[in-house]
Amino acid sequence: MLADKDRIFRNLYGRHDWGFKGARARGAWDGTKAILQKGREALVSEMKASGQRGRGGAGFPTGLKWSFMPKQADDRPHYLVVNADESEPGTCKDREIMRHDPHLLIEGCLIAGAAMDARTCYIYIRGEFIRERERLEAAIAQAYEARLVGKNNIHGYDFDIVVHHGAGAYICGEETALLESLEGKKGMPRLKPPFPANMGLYGCPTTVNNVETIAQVPDIMRRGAAWFAGIGRPNNTGTKLFCISGHVERPCNVEEAMGIPLRELIEKHAGGVCGGWSNLLAVIPGGSSMPLVPAGADQADTLLMDFDGCRDKKSALGTAAVIVMDKSADIVKAMARISYFYKHETCGQCTPCREGMGWMWRVLTRMAEGRAHKREIDMLWEVTTQIEGHTICAFGDGAAWPVQGLIRHFRPEIERRIDEYTANPDAGGVLDPAATEAAE
Ligand code: SF4
Repeated sequence: MLADKDRIFRNLYGRHDWGFKGARARGAWDGTKAILQKGREALVSEMKASGQRGRGGAGFPTGLKWSFMPKQADDRPHYLVVNADESEPGTCKDREIMRHDPHLLIEGCLIAGAAMDARTCYIYIRGEFIRERERLEAAIAQAYEARLVGKNNIHGYDFDIVVHHGAGAYICGEETALLESLEGKKGMPRLKPPFPANMGLYGCPTTVNNVETIAQVPDIMRRGAAWFAGIGRPNNTGTKLFCISGHVERPCNVEEAMGIPLRELIEKHAGGVCGGWSNLLAVIPGGSSMPLVPAGADQADTLLMDFDGCRDKKSALGTAAVIVMDKSADIVKAMARISYFYKHETCGQCTPCREGMGWMWRVLTRMAEGRAHKREIDMLWEVTTQIEGHTICAFGDGAAWPVQGLIRHFRPEIERRIDEYTANPDAGGVLDPAATEAAE
């Protein structure tokens, strides 16, 4: 269990002052000038040494990402863009940072900006986050007033922060769609290359980082890379905010060490699975776009909550949004509902994604009540493989993986429903695709 002294987010639950004074008392803005004076290369090296991997889902090493920004200045400005579009179902961690500890994020922006020679930072915040935006803007105003950021600030590094409010589209959490949206265009992902580090916002070198990633930066710099790297396991270092929801006694957000066993995480912090651990059916460890991990000795029982631990179970840590389902959950219907979400959120540029999302949802809806043929299970699998890896952005993968997880682990359950329906079609369910769509 993470020791209190190692916590970064000490006001996660909003029990203390979120403002400048409170943040200052918790250690924020302490020695920031000395950190900036280390210079660009030292800051990037420190991030690399910390081993921190991005907290937004993909888990790309932060220091390495920063190092992709051009070293030689040309006439183009560099930009830091913070992805605060937190939209992954089950995920509610970045909003807590913005509500309760916004100064960590602001200080992190300044340091990250200095590490990449960026003088302007845009924070792209999810459309539904009204109060979070207000709080963040209030904290930024405090930072300007105290001359912590802005022109001629006390840190000697001119730096501006602009908050941009999105309109509430899931796909704008994809970094290039976010940049398009920020430029005032439709939020549609760009083909890569060119990557944002070479041609990002307004055609200029840009790095997009997640809120939690950036909010951890000041502590990494203050306490040192070795401290951060000493928590968790090699390649999976540091602390992480976990969002635990679903069939648990006390859904919560909690900061824990990477690599904590899933069972310990749920039982220590969320009061356990409803009905006890033996009542667990499956868990989605990293937000709705990750494959589920079923209960079992070699599955959820032994799942370590970090990048490699989730990969070992053919899933992924994603945003670390742990969605717990006990045996009362209708797992096929749940996956059909998740597919509906992706059908609704596809931007429609790529044919496999645009057509595949609705197709998967319709088939899963029928399968949930058994109105399908068993051969369609393989066909559904085949369609997921035709979507995965064949689209412009990772949305296609993220929509295909949950369906693959369902088939991989719950094929007998789908078959049982088909057998049941075939034996007694009149007792079929009520999941009519057209009716469900109309209701949505
Ligand atoms: Fe749009 Fe889907 Fe293609 Fe991503 S994969 S660009 S969301 S159509």
